Amino acid sequence: MPELPEVETLRRALLPLVLNKPCTALKFYRKDIRFPIPQATLYRQMKNQIVCQVQRIGKYLLLKVPKGAMLLHLGMSGRVSLSDTMSPKEKHTHATFQFGQKVFLHFVDPRRFGCILWVPHSGKHSLLDNLGPDPFSTEANPEVLKNRAKKCKSPIKTFIMDSRRITGIGNIYACESLFHAGINPKRKAGLITFPEWELLLSCIRSTLENSIAAGGTTLRDFFEPSGKTGYYAVKLSVYGKEGKPCSKCATPISRLIHSGRSTFFCKTCQPSTKKRSNRLLTLA
Ligand SMILES: [Zn+2]
Repeated sequence: MPELPEVETLRRALLPLVLNKPCTALKFYRKDIRFPIPQATLYRQMKNQIVCQVQRIGKYLLLKVPKGAMLLHLGMSGRVSLSDTMSPKEKHTHATFQFGQKVFLHFVDPRRFGCILWVPHSGKHSLLDNLGPDPFSTEANPEVLKNRAKKCKSPIKTFIMDSRRITGIGNIYACESLFHAGINPKRKAGLITFPEWELLLSCIRSTLENSIAAGGTTLRDFFEPSGKTGYYAVKLSVYGKEGKPCSKCATPISRLIHSGRSTFFCKTCQPSTKKRSNRLLTLA
């Protein structure tokens, strides 16, 4: 499933291709994907409009034009490929777009959990209105997060994976960030201290950044013609490592199932009480 790093890589790859260029053509090959595609609106609002920004909020990509933005979401299996023609070249191509004279982008999504929508200039949209801050935005800071977590009894891992609290952190990145921060995934979000929030946020950002850095720098690098998408080959420390020795202390990595998702952590480096955390003592 495309995660935040893949979407950020896509954003960076799209920038030189579409920025300051008009959207010269749009074609849709089905009425809906996950949601109905507002074809008439997109055609009216996007056609011949100059793309002035390519923004990412969590896993949503926004191609901004003066009147609003076309929102793309890749869902479970979606991707954008670069082509030399408007005509679809492969199965499950649901839309094709032309920018300027030579750039053709194809939206391909076999499982159809993705979407193509229109967001007005106000930025108001039911999919975006309740989203928490993006981890890289200035709104995501230790004060705000600690405040949002006040009185929250859910485990910290559930909290950081809840897009209404902070958006775009999937299971792998949640496990890895908590490991690097030395925070037990089961601890109550409301009891995470300010210094721990500072550390956790910096670990979330560095984990995502490393993954973005591991991705391709051009659309062709990552969105291969074979159509295979997947997680970047990032070096994982705990995810999927049950029973293997912890990279910091050699304790076998534990796994537990929470809300149907696997959680991987080190019992020693991520103690269930704050006091025993060596990493935090070192920082203090
Ligand atoms: Zn350990």
